[in-house]
Amino acid sequence: MPNTTRTTSSPSSSRSSVALTRASLFKFLWLLVGVFFLASYLLVYLANDLDRTEEAESAFYTRKAVQSLEKSLLSTVKDYAFWGDTYRQLHTQVDIDWAYVRQNVGPTLFTDFGFEGMFVVNDSNRTVYAVVKGELKPVDASQWLKQSTGAILERARAGAEAEIPTSAFINIGGVPALVVAAAITPGTDPTVLRDGRVPSVLIFVDILEPAKLEALGQDYGVDDLRVATPDELYDPSVFSLGENGSAGTLHWSPPEPGQRLLGLGLPLVGFAALLVCLMTWVILRRTTASAQALDASYASLQHSQMALAISEARFRDVVEASSDWVWEIDADWRFIYLSERFEDVTGLSRDLWIGAAMDDLLRTELGTVSQWLSIPSRRPNISVQCRYVDTKGQERITRVSARKMAGGGFRGTATDVTEEVEARRRIEFLSQHDALTGLPNRTRLQEFLDGKLKASPTVEHPLVMLSLDLDRFKPVNDLLGHAAGDFVLNEVSNRLAECIRHGDLVARIGGDEFVLILTDLRSQEEVETLCRRLIESVERPIQIDEQQVFVSTSIGIAMAPNDASEASELLRYADIALYESKSSGRNTWRFYAGDMNAKIIERRRLERDLRFAIKHNELRLHFQPRFRIADGQMVGAEALVRWQHPERGLIAPDTFISIAEETGLIISLSNWVIETACHHAVLWPEHLFVSVNLSPSEFKRGNLIQRVQTALHDSGIDPARVELEITESVMLEDATGALEVMHRLKRLGVRIAMDDFGTGYSSLSYLRTFPFDGLKIDRSFLNRLAESDDDKSIIQAIVGLGQALSLTVTAEGIETAEHLNLLKAVACDEGQGYFLSRPLDNEAFSTLVGARTVAGTDSKV
Ligand code: C2E
Ligand code: CA
Ligand code: CA
Repeated sequence: MPNTTRTTSSPSSSRSSVALTRASLFKFLWLLVGVFFLASYLLVYLANDLDRTEEAESAFYTRKAVQSLEKSLLSTVKDYAFWGDTYRQLHTQVDIDWAYVRQNVGPTLFTDFGFEGMFVVNDSNRTVYAVVKGELKPVDASQWLKQSTGAILERARAGAEAEIPTSAFINIGGVPALVVAAAITPGTDPTVLRDGRVPSVLIFVDILEPAKLEALGQDYGVDDLRVATPDELYDPSVFSLGENGSAGTLHWSPPEPGQRLLGLGLPLVGFAALLVCLMTWVILRRTTASAQALDASYASLQHSQMALAISEARFRDVVEASSDWVWEIDADWRFIYLSERFEDVTGLSRDLWIGAAMDDLLRTELGTVSQWLSIPSRRPNISVQCRYVDTKGQERITRVSARKMAGGGFRGTATDVTEEVEARRRIEFLSQHDALTGLPNRTRLQEFLDGKLKASPTVEHPLVMLSLDLDRFKPVNDLLGHAAGDFVLNEVSNRLAECIRHGDLVARIGGDEFVLILTDLRSQEEVETLCRRLIESVERPIQIDEQQVFVSTSIGIAMAPNDASEASELLRYADIALYESKSSGRNTWRFYAGDMNAKIIERRRLERDLRFAIKHNELRLHFQPRFRIADGQMVGAEALVRWQHPERGLIAPDTFISIAEETGLIISLSNWVIETACHHAVLWPEHLFVSVNLSPSEFKRGNLIQRVQTALHDSGIDPARVELEITESVMLEDATGALEVMHRLKRLGVRIAMDDFGTGYSSLSYLRTFPFDGLKIDRSFLNRLAESDDDKSIIQAIVGLGQALSLTVTAEGIETAEHLNLLKAVACDEGQGYFLSRPLDNEAFSTLVGARTVAGTDSKV
């Protein structure tokens, strides 16, 4: 096994060589790091040193500046004090005119030299002459200086003989000031003689205001010279004035060339370091790679007999531990090796198969394995799915991968993927099929439809889409439970599937909605034949346990390309046609027609208008009298709603009741009917009752009882004079709920009649279990009377039944005298119909019965 030996190359040798390269590079890296650290350190040191020197220099210049200021002041005071004229005019006597007015020792000292204060203190230490900021002021020197002048006067007088002035830094209200003083002497004037008195003293005061300090500093190249703030007192760049800094401390900003050097130098060093690191890294990588390559080639030279042995043992372990089996074939496609796992996985014997042709065991989807292996362009890392039959005779799927061996033949592995493939197939199936019936679902339908539409159906070979919806399915679910519902759906699915040809499609796309796609139907007749077959097939009773269940279906038909050639449109049109077929009595089919869409739009408009109508009093109530058949006496009347549409005129309830039911408007409509009916009926003679139709959907809403109660209460009518007509469908949909509601209605005192008896299930058990007071035979029985005698006997039977259950039986739709006679003959209790009276508007009916009139009540009708 030459290709497995590569992994046996001695790991220690490989590690040492690579490690060596790395180690030396790391050493070099550490050296570099050291160098950079040293460079940075030196830079910082240099910068600090530079700054320190600069600092010392600026301190020197600051001192120099202060000294020179002191010197210049001393020399100025000398000029003025050691002068004969001064001696004469300010010591011997004080001549203000000479000194101030003629400006000999006056305002010019302030304007030219900036001395804020100038004083002459006489021999008895009294201030005899004072000029403050250039103005003559009668102030005392020590007062103005806010401190005693004793010491300085003493020093000045001590220097009188040798003509030496004195100076001192003091602090005046937080601002440092330089005071110079000198005893007044005749100087070199030979004409003036000293008088032997204690000499007077001349004092100049220079207050070191910020501007002055700044200018002083500037003269000596010192920046920002000013009085130090308390925070700056401990900075290196300070200079104390006076004894122990009593006059204040000066502060300046020394230039910091070192900091500037650092600002520039450090990033430069950092950048250089980064660059070197990066380069080292690149070198490290390169050298490691080449070292590895070196190692690899070195190691491959090293494989020994022992490495080979280890490798083989390892290979065996891996092979037997894996769930795959390993095979080898020779150049004649015969097995020369099969791993032990082969027997576990396939159940087949290794001994039997070694030497046998691989093609006898495995087949690919397209042909034999040898064919696949011989494909010149076959890539070695692509596997192929193969089938074989295991010992139990079951077909299994395995994924085979193969590599060519050096000496001819192939070797590879085989992985069992039977379960995986099966699971994937199931998932795929489930995603495209309905779980309950196994029929294709909407996704599959869409795919199928798209495929068929791509083939561009023609008028001669149209694509026919049927949209089906079960009628009367909901009651099955509600009455018999969901298991029964599921059973029915499954049964219907089977029947639908039976009716279509191979290659067509039945899909379940909703609860009881199906779509059929057919491509083999040529003419309308053929489509209709199929529809008929479908309906008949669905209509056949379905047996569930002891029960027989009946459902039917309505069908809508749309065709491509005639109606549409897009899937979504086709579906919509088939749906519209279905809707149409449902509204035209169910259990039938309708082809899509262009105006159906218009009809739906029209319906929407009606819905909107109806909403408005209920609110704006467009509804009207008509009353159709009901008579006792035996003596022709009127016993009551049925309230029938109409809609006085502003444009369409009077609309019959058939047109809008269903819309009201679908949209929920039925509640407010019915409220209006019940209330209005009661309000009118209360005015009728007391022996007449009023009968009101209820819609099944009202039964499902909780508040029916409350609504009826309110109407009864508000009108004040005797509940016994009110009858409610309900149809069988109420019980079909929710029998227990209906029973409960009916009992509660009965407790209000109203009567309940079953309307349209004979059109629905006509279950006798309903009549027995539910608290009905009467039943109304549907008018279709009388309509058909002329055609068949059966209906006559049915009418007779119903009347008999009603009487047996003590129900008042009413016949509807009495249109002729014959009808009436027949009903008389079978002793039917009551009747209504055009022959007796058409529905009348309120006015006509009131007149007919001689109703009381109460002002205002007519407005409702
Ligand atoms: P229905 O309850 O069966 O009402 C009797 C229908 O038969 C009325 O039609 C009435 O005009 C008609 N009719 C009466 N005598 C004859 C006759 O001799 N021959 C024929 N061919 N027809 C006759 P209408 O007023 O058009 O009402 C139709 C349906 O609308 C009613 O059928 C009822 O189901 C519903 N409806 C009417 N008013 C209301 C209402 O206020 N609420 C509810 N929920 N439904 C109502
Ligand atoms: Ca009715
Ligand atoms: Ca009826």
